[in-house]
Amino acid sequence: MALANGQFHAHAPAQPPAPVPRRIVLLGATGSIGRSTVDLLERDPEGFSVSAVAGGRDVEALARVARAVRAEFAAIRDESAYAALKAALAGTNIQVAAGREAIIEAALRDADLVVSAIVGAAGVEPTYAALAAGRDVALANKECLVCAGVPFMRKAAEMGVQLLPMDSEHNAIFQALGGEDPSRIERMIVTASGGPFRTWSKERIAEASVEEALNHPNWAMGPKITVDSAGMMNKGLELIEAHHLFGIPAEKLEVVVHPQSIVHGLVAFSDGSVTAGIAVPDMRTPIAHCLGYPDRLTTPTPRLDLAKIATLTFEAPDFERFPALKLALEVLRDGGGLPTVLNAANEIAVEAFLDRRMSFDGIARHVAEACEAALRDGTANAPATVEDALAVDHIVRERSRSALAGRAASGMLLQ
Ligand code: NAD
Ligand code: MG
Repeated sequence: MALANGQFHAHAPAQPPAPVPRRIVLLGATGSIGRSTVDLLERDPEGFSVSAVAGGRDVEALARVARAVRAEFAAIRDESAYAALKAALAGTNIQVAAGREAIIEAALRDADLVVSAIVGAAGVEPTYAALAAGRDVALANKECLVCAGVPFMRKAAEMGVQLLPMDSEHNAIFQALGGEDPSRIERMIVTASGGPFRTWSKERIAEASVEEALNHPNWAMGPKITVDSAGMMNKGLELIEAHHLFGIPAEKLEVVVHPQSIVHGLVAFSDGSVTAGIAVPDMRTPIAHCLGYPDRLTTPTPRLDLAKIATLTFEAPDFERFPALKLALEVLRDGGGLPTVLNAANEIAVEAFLDRRMSFDGIARHVAEACEAALRDGTANAPATVEDALAVDHIVRERSRSALAGRAASGMLLQ
C-alpha cells in the first residue's frame, strides 16, 4: 500500500480477498505486456471480466484481443481507425471509440484493477486519470514514474489506491520487501541482464544496428524497451521507478548485472539479511502476481530448476560502455525535472534510432545534451503536477525533434 512519502506500508493490513470475477481494464492491450496479460486472462474466464481494452493503432490486433477477452469497450488511440475498428467488431456487443479521449474513457471504465501497459509517456494521462478516479493500478509502464513520479505517488497516496509494480525487478522487490519496515532497508538491488551488448567493446556498441539492438538474449519485449535495455537506459529508468515506488533514496539503490535473469531484485536489511525475488524470466509471473494480488493465480510459466541452471553469475555494471545508465543515475541524484527531460529526449532518440536516422551511441549523447540544455534554461525545474510534467515532456520532445531534424538535413547518420 502506497503512503504519502511513496513508501510501502511497513505492516500492511491483511487485504480482503479479491472479488470474483475481478474487473480489469487493459491499457496497451496489443503490446508485449498486453498479450501476456491476455494470455492469463483467457485461461481464467471465470476469474476475470474485462471492462475495457485500449491500443495505439493496430486495429486487427485490438479487435482480436477485445473478442478474446469479451471486453465491454475497445478504444484505439489513432482517431482515423474508428471506422475500421467498428467494422472489425461488427456483430459483437463491444462498444468502440477512437482518439485521446477514448483512451482516457477506457482508463476510467469500472474496474478493480487497471493494467497500465502503454509504452512511453503516452501512458501518463490515462494512468493518472485511473489513479485519480481511485482505481488500483498495476504499473508496467515505467515512463509514468520517470516523467511524473512525485505527482503520481502523491495522488496514489491521497486516493489510498494500490500501485502494484508489474516491471519484473520491482515486482520481485515488492515481494522481497514482505511488508517490512522501510527504515530498516540498507540497500535495494535491481538486476540487469546486460542485454545483447554486455560483452561488446565501446566501439562495437557505437555502431550497433537496429537488428542487433533488438536481439535481446532473455526477454521478448516491445521495440522501445528492447533498445533501452541494449544501452542499459532501461535499468536507469528502473532505478528512477524504484526510487518513487518504494520511496528509497538514490544512494541506497544499486544495479548488478546478472546475465541469467533469474534473480530479479534484492532487498538488504540492517541486520545483514538479504531477501530476493527469484523466478524464470517470463513476464507472465509478475503480471499474474499483480492480477491475483493479494491472492495467487496458477500460471503456465516454466518452473524454476536451479540444478539445471547450475550457475548464476553477477558482475558490476560498466558505466563507461553504458553511459545511459550513468546519466540516468546522475539525473536521479540531481532530481528536479531532469528525469522528465531524460525520458522525453530518450523516447525521441530511440525513435530516431529505430528509424535508422541515428547511431546507437547517438541516443545517450542526445539525451545528455537535452539534459544539459534543460539545466541551462530552467526546463529542468521539478514539475509539481502531472500537467507540468507533460508540459516539460512536450517542450523537450519538440526540441529533440527539431534538433535531430536539423542535423539529419545534412544527410548523415546522427551521431
Ligand atoms: P509494446 O510496444 O509491445 O506495446 C505498447 C502498447 O502501447 C501497444 O498496445 C500499443 O498499441 C500501445 N500504445 C502505443 N502508443 C500508444 C498511445 N499513444 N496511446 C495508446 N496506446 C498506445 O511495449 P511493451 O513491451 O508491452 O511495453 C509496455 C510498457 O511496459 C513499457 O513502458 C515498458 O517499459 C513496460 N515493460 C515492458 C516489459 C516487457 O517485457 N515487454 C517489461 C517490463 C516493463
Ligand atoms: Mg524490468
